Amino acid sequence: MLKVVKFGGSSLASAAQFAKAGEIIRSEESRKYVVPSAPGKRNAKDTKVTDLLYECYAAAEAEEDFKMKLRKIKERFDSIINGLNLKLSLEEEFRTIAENFTKKSGRDYAASRGEYLNGIIMAAYLGYEFIDAAEVIFFDKNGEFEAEKTNKILSKRLKKCEKAVIPGFYGVREDGVVCTFSRGGSDITGSVVAKAAGADLYENWTDVSGFLVADPRIIENPEVIKVITYRELRELSYMGATVLHEDAVFPVRQAGIPINIKNTNAPDEEGTLIVESTCHHSKYTITGIAGKKGFVAVNIDKDMMNSEVGFCRKVLTAFEQNGISFEHMPSGIDTMTVFVHQEEFEGKEQQVLSAIHRLAEPDTIDLGADYALIAVVGRGMRATRGTAGRIFSALSHANVNVRMIDQGSSELNIIIGVANNDFETAIKAIYDIFVTTQL
Ligand code: ASP
Repeated sequence: MLKVVKFGGSSLASAAQFAKAGEIIRSEESRKYVVPSAPGKRNAKDTKVTDLLYECYAAAEAEEDFKMKLRKIKERFDSIINGLNLKLSLEEEFRTIAENFTKKSGRDYAASRGEYLNGIIMAAYLGYEFIDAAEVIFFDKNGEFEAEKTNKILSKRLKKCEKAVIPGFYGVREDGVVCTFSRGGSDITGSVVAKAAGADLYENWTDVSGFLVADPRIIENPEVIKVITYRELRELSYMGATVLHEDAVFPVRQAGIPINIKNTNAPDEEGTLIVESTCHHSKYTITGIAGKKGFVAVNIDKDMMNSEVGFCRKVLTAFEQNGISFEHMPSGIDTMTVFVHQEEFEGKEQQVLSAIHRLAEPDTIDLGADYALIAVVGRGMRATRGTAGRIFSALSHANVNVRMIDQGSSELNIIIGVANNDFETAIKAIYDIFVTTQL
């Protein structure tokens, strides 16, 4: 058994958190490769080290005095080192960082130092080898991740060491410049390392016990999803559920390695297992509910639309020409509706409307603002009768008017459009009918 374990920022924010991570790693021989994030927030008012580094580098770039800011960052790391009773000095490392900041070595380089230094501490604490991600994770000259090259070099390197710490979030470009993934990118590094190591499991340790069936800001103490497929996860993350970086699933998915989301503060809880496919029935018909507010429905009418070849393409061209992506597109006989993000659409509204008129010559176009879209996701829906019926009767009992329905052909999800104001009520009603009343 071989596990790659990634620890998020809050799991490594202080010496006490580090010690919890250390205990988890040491408790199983199989946890051989460790991917740390930079120290995150110790409490709600705290600032992540990554953000402090961005701020510090901005001062360096503006040729202001950044030394004070850098000293504060060093203090964060020193308090971890001292709390763990390690004999380790980052004096030399910080001297190099200060020199590189003065030389303006780049924003990505600056941000990456959080993971780099935390990796050094973690390696010293565990007695594992330290592998600088800049030697094994590669980006091309445009900053795009180079999966193949990385996998080849990284797997060769890992074969040579039994236990190692590889910092998350960054790598190196062809020209030697340090480059990072987007924010939260240590999740991707963990996945890349799991693939290269040929791991049996990628454990992603964070501060929640997995993916929740619904947003805890709307539902009090929602249930944890025990098993979820990659496709279900994609649907839920797209609609706003965030625990894992969206791109983190791709490397392990290709290699058939499951991801287990675990809680550093409650390591005995099972967490969520993310898999390619499963015969495990979820406890409820649905796996999860997620949603977003702020959509506009662009309703387009034209007599005999259905028999006009290419009508849809012409309409969508108008959106494409204005750089607007659409979310959903339910249609009727002589009508079609295109759902777009209100924020994205507002500034270009009139250009899009005139482009539709020009390209598709519709009879009328009318706009409906302030829609919320809710995705009810579940692999179990395909085989269950009455799921849609239950959703709509629950919504009707809760006095929510359903303004749009769209069921994907995969039968993995049902998308419901309601007024922004009804968003929370609708989610509560759906959660209650599928989860609360089943308990
Ligand atoms: N430290 C980086 C961030 O705050 C990357 C990560 O934590 O995954 O985004």
